[in-house]
This record gives sequence, structure tokens and C-alpha cells, in this order.
Amino acid sequence: MQAATIARSIATGLTAGAAIGAVAAVVSRAAGDAAATSLGAAAGTGAAVGTVLALGCSAARERLLARVRDALAEDGADARVVGVEGAVDALLARLAHERQATQAVRRGLEIDSRVARSELDRLRRAVGHAPEGLVVLDGADEVVLTSTAGAARLGIPDGDEGKGPLPPGGETDIVLRAVREARAEGPAGERRLELPEGGRANIEREITVRPLHDAEGRPDGSVLLVRDLSHERELGRMTSEFVAKASHELRTPLSSITAYAEMLVDGEAQDDAARRECYEVIEGEASRLGRLIDDMLDISRIEAGLTRVERTSVDLGDLMRRTVESIQPQAHEKEQHLQARVAEVDLRVEGDRDMLQRVIVNLLSNAVKYTPEGGRIVASVDSDNLTGSIVLAVEDTGMGIPPDRLEKVFEKFYRIENYERMARGTGLGLNLCRHIVESLHAGQIGVESELGRGSKFWISVPMRHAGGRAAA
Ligand code: ADP
Repeated sequence: MQAATIARSIATGLTAGAAIGAVAAVVSRAAGDAAATSLGAAAGTGAAVGTVLALGCSAARERLLARVRDALAEDGADARVVGVEGAVDALLARLAHERQATQAVRRGLEIDSRVARSELDRLRRAVGHAPEGLVVLDGADEVVLTSTAGAARLGIPDGDEGKGPLPPGGETDIVLRAVREARAEGPAGERRLELPEGGRANIEREITVRPLHDAEGRPDGSVLLVRDLSHERELGRMTSEFVAKASHELRTPLSSITAYAEMLVDGEAQDDAARRECYEVIEGEASRLGRLIDDMLDISRIEAGLTRVERTSVDLGDLMRRTVESIQPQAHEKEQHLQARVAEVDLRVEGDRDMLQRVIVNLLSNAVKYTPEGGRIVASVDSDNLTGSIVLAVEDTGMGIPPDRLEKVFEKFYRIENYERMARGTGLGLNLCRHIVESLHAGQIGVESELGRGSKFWISVPMRHAGGRAAA
């Protein structure tokens, strides 16, 4: 057997191929043909010997050497001449070195794979919690990753359950067609489609489809961005409703002003008394128009977060007494009994004095407006230590509010039809109050009422504004 064949034989027989190849080469250089034959036979013990060598066990080494020596002796060769011991030791050293290197590589790979796994988990969690409706498809157009919002908007289960083909159906066909079309357009491809309400997700959606490509530019899946249009549509609907109502409310005083101005221009108001009446109507309607515009601007500023709140320590008891005084003339005119009941405790809150006064003025003037002549109005302020707030209430013996309108009276422009003859208003006062109390003072506003017997409007304002300084 040739030295090269022996080398191959040992190399194939032993598990650590490359290293064994090295010892076989050493052996082949030192050995004569006969010796090489015996060594080849000894090495033929194969994998078992390899394992022994790889383990580097000294007893096993001795046994292996003994077998090789015996084989050489049978053929009359001397192991020392062949140099088997040195070769085996070199092999063991090399094996140990290679084992260490392999273990280091394995440890490195394990760390890399752990890092990769935790990064993938983080990515999945980030995508999963993203408020955007994200759905990622693989090259076979099957779902591999979704955000919770994306799964919900596409009507598929969230997480692992949603993985796989999109559920069959008309909607899926439309989506998959868009996916294929976008892919056919190459890396810059995009498709946008709107799915009407009534699909699996039962919401109006806009889906943007973009193809994904790997590093070599080959198509490698798609990403879908699913947007819920319902909120946008609702906002749009509310805006147009607001514009329609606002224009209607603005047109009413404007029409009066125009009509009375025309009467004056055309000389229809012939005497002083008639002219005076025209001027008074024009003045009244103009100031109503001004109030309407002011209220609308105030509400939209608060809604847009543009209102500057001048927060100071405000004594609501003191503010109530003063405001009741200023409203007394209107109550007198209707022979109403208006009274302030202010508790003798600390009634200070952290808030904007002017805005809180507007709320009190609104509630008091509503009570005067919607309470018939001779009625009673009680304005009270007390502290509620349980909730840490000051509670202010305006109770009247007026018309009351039907139970199904109790919430509606806080809506923009809402006015109870039958009461319109009783008093003029904008229908914005209570909405503004709600904004001032709830949005700007973290408080609450509410109403209790019994039709025909009266109403009690109340607000509660925290004594200390969250995150603010303690009241001085
Ligand atoms: P307005 O300028 O019309 O008074 P508000 O927003 O202040 O607008 O009030 C909305 C509607 O709520 C009023 O038009 C009226 O129908 C009803 N309302 C308000 N306050 C009272 C009250 N104290 N008693 C009965 N109805 C009231």
C-alpha cells in the first residue's frame, strides 16, 4: 500500500479528517512500504481510533500505539524508525488545538444566533405593537409578520395564528392582485386600494402595497400598510356638519341685520321710534354675531390645544359671590330669587380665573334664561375632600331638560327647540363650559334635571392641578 493511500485510509477512517491526514503524511514520510502496510491495517480501525485520538486519553493513546507497534513488529519494522510515536503526539496536539478552535467557533455561532433571535423578537414586538396596520408577506405571498392593528384591519388572527396564506375570499383576491401588480413594477412599485366597509374587518380601509427585494434585488415578499379610514371620515363628517351648523347660525343674525339695514336705507322706517327699533335690532344681532364668533373661536382654540391657560390660585367661593352679584340685575328683571350659598371652607383651586368665571356666568345666565318669572336659583360652592375637588352647582326651578337631551345640551349648537322662544342663545355656551372644565382644568361637568321642575348643573374642579404647584 502506498504512503498516500495509507494517509487517505487513516484520514477517512478517523473522524477528525484534516488532522489525521497530517499524521498520515508524517507516517508516510517515515515508513517503508511494509511498515506502511501494517500501519494502514492498524489505522483501519477507523472511527473508534479517531474518537480515541480526539479525546486525547493517555490510556487510549498507549493502546493505539501498542497496536501500531505490534503491526509494525509483525512486518519486521521498528516503530522508532518509522517515528510513529512522534506522529501520534503531533496528531493529538493538533486535534486538541482544532477542537479548541471548533469550540470557539461554535460558541461564537451560539452567541450570534442568540443575538439574532433576540433582535428578531424585538423586531416582532415592535412591529406587533406599532399603531400602524402593518402586514408583511413572504415571497409566496403568505403572512409572516403583522402588527396587531394590521391583523385587525385585515380581519386575520393576530400573532402566530395569522401566519400563512391570507384567508380565501373576494377581499383577499383584490389584495393579492395588488401585491402581484406592485411586484411586477419592480423595487419602486406601489399599489393603493380602498376596501369599503363591510369586509371581514368591517371598517373602511386604505391599503398601500409595496414589494420587498433582497440584497441582490430579487423580489422577496411585500409589505402592506393598512389604514383605518373610519376616524378620518368621521372627522370629515363632523367638520362639514360643524361648518353647516355654524353657517346657519351666522346667517340668522346676518339676515336680520341686512333686513333692518335695508328698511333704513329704503326709508321704510318713517318715524324716530321705528328707526330706533331698527338700530336696536341691528345692535342686538351684531353683538349676538360677535358672541357667536367669539365662542366658536374659543372652542376651536381649545380643541386645537392653542389656548394659553393662566393658572393661579382661584377662590371659587369668592368668584361665585361676585358673579352672582353681576347677574342679579337680570334675575331681578324676571323677579327671580337668586342666591349664593358658599361654604366656609378653603375653596381655592389652581385654575384660570377668567375662564372659570365664563363657566359660572354661562351656568347662571342659562338658569335665569330658562327659569320662568318668579323662579328660584341657588348657586352653591363646597369642597369635596373625598375627591380633593371643589364642587360648584347652579340649581334652578326652571323648565328642566328631557332625560334624552341631558347629554345633548353639551353638544355644539344644540338647543332644545321649544325653549328657543324663551331665550336667545348660541347653543355653544355649555360646550365651551365642558371644554374649559374638562380639557383645561381636568375637572368634570354634569347635569341632573326633572322636566318641568328644574335643573342642576354642576362642575367639579380638582383643588390642585395634576403636575402643577400646590395652591398658595
Ligand atoms: P344657549 O346659548 O342656547 O343657552 P347653551 O349651550 O348654554 O346654549 O345651552 C344649550 C341648550 O341647553 C339651551 O339652548 C337650552 O335648550 C338648554 N339649557 C341650558 N341650560 C338650561 C337650564 N338651566 N334649564 C333648561 N334648559 C337649559
